[in-house]
Amino acid sequence: MIVASPSSLYSDLDVSAQVDAPLAAHTWFGIGGSADLLIRPRSPEALATLARRCRRDGIPLRVLGSGANLLVDDEGVDGVVVKLDTECFQRVDFNAEGLVERMRVFGGASMEKLVQECARRGLAGIEPMSGIPASLGGAIRMNAGGRFGAIGDAVDAVTVLGMDGEQRVYTAAELRFGYRESNLPEGIVLWASLRVAPDDPMACRERVKEIFAYKKSTQPMSANSAGCMFRNPVMGDGTRVSAGKLIDQARLKGTRVGCAFVSQEHGNFIAIDRKADAPARTDDLRGLVDLIKARVLAEANIELQTEVVFWRRGEPA
Ligand SMILES: Cc1cc2nc3c(=O)[nH]c(=O)nc-3n(C[C@H](O)[C@H](O)[C@H](O)COP(=O)(O)OP(=O)(O)OC[C@H]3O[C@@H](n4cnc5c(N)ncnc54)[C@H](O)[C@@H]3O)c2cc1C
Repeated sequence: MIVASPSSLYSDLDVSAQVDAPLAAHTWFGIGGSADLLIRPRSPEALATLARRCRRDGIPLRVLGSGANLLVDDEGVDGVVVKLDTECFQRVDFNAEGLVERMRVFGGASMEKLVQECARRGLAGIEPMSGIPASLGGAIRMNAGGRFGAIGDAVDAVTVLGMDGEQRVYTAAELRFGYRESNLPEGIVLWASLRVAPDDPMACRERVKEIFAYKKSTQPMSANSAGCMFRNPVMGDGTRVSAGKLIDQARLKGTRVGCAFVSQEHGNFIAIDRKADAPARTDDLRGLVDLIKARVLAEANIELQTEVVFWRRGEPA
């Protein structure tokens, strides 16, 4: 849906707005089209009013984190994209409520910076996020993590702004975090209270370094990718099998469609070659995803599902 008169949505709000805003530079893939409207609110109140107006007018509203798990269609996306990169959404309150064991982290805060700062202060608990590019909101939405743990393990409570503009708090007892998913209702993660434990800063830093080194040795971290493209599928006996292994067994490493190729280092990483002769297109990547799914289905009789979030016009936000 194209926003008919976009300025009426935000002109009286404390936000900055860009019409027809290219999104490629906001994602790790670095490809895709524009958002009809990109809005950066400067207060939770402005964001709440914007959400209410979008709902009232039937305009889709999407929230962009650090773009590390996001693929934007070549045709871009309709409606409003919100980016929480102003100061008030990047805050971290250590010793929240006077407790060293709780910190309040806002939705747009960088997890990479938070991991470093916690290690520096000798606060243990979120080291498993080392090397995972994310905002706090994106990390919680995806329950980002890996073999050393996931963000959900440290969550004490999450405050979500609903599309009705109301804030609701969900406690750890109400939340269920699973493999790259949770039961968190739709809405925008405003902030979360995370549990940490005082520890020796040197020991924290060592754990962060070890986890980062492990990731670096197993994944092409600097490629234009979104990490793992596919979810590890569940087998009949309930165990998960590595999607990367299935792709490797189907001899797909190195396979290319236009600018998109399967990493030689890790079968589940699809990357974009920006130096390819033709322009880098999301359609190439989607073509490669379809090819991989078809081949793995034919060879292993397993249907792969994407982990990466796709944004397209006309699809629910
Ligand atoms: C090199 C590389 C390595 C990676 N390794 C890992 C890994 O080891 N483990 C892992 O789990 N992931 C990994 N990823 C994927 C990615 O880091 C995670 O999925 C991360 O959580 C994405 O966060 P983001 O802020 O970038 O979210 P985005 O990609 O911007 O958005 C992802 C989803 O979260 C939603 N979202 C974003 N912010 C909010 C908010 N405030 N409120 C509500 N919803 C929100 C978006 O609308 C979208 O649906 C990797 C990615 C890269 C590029």
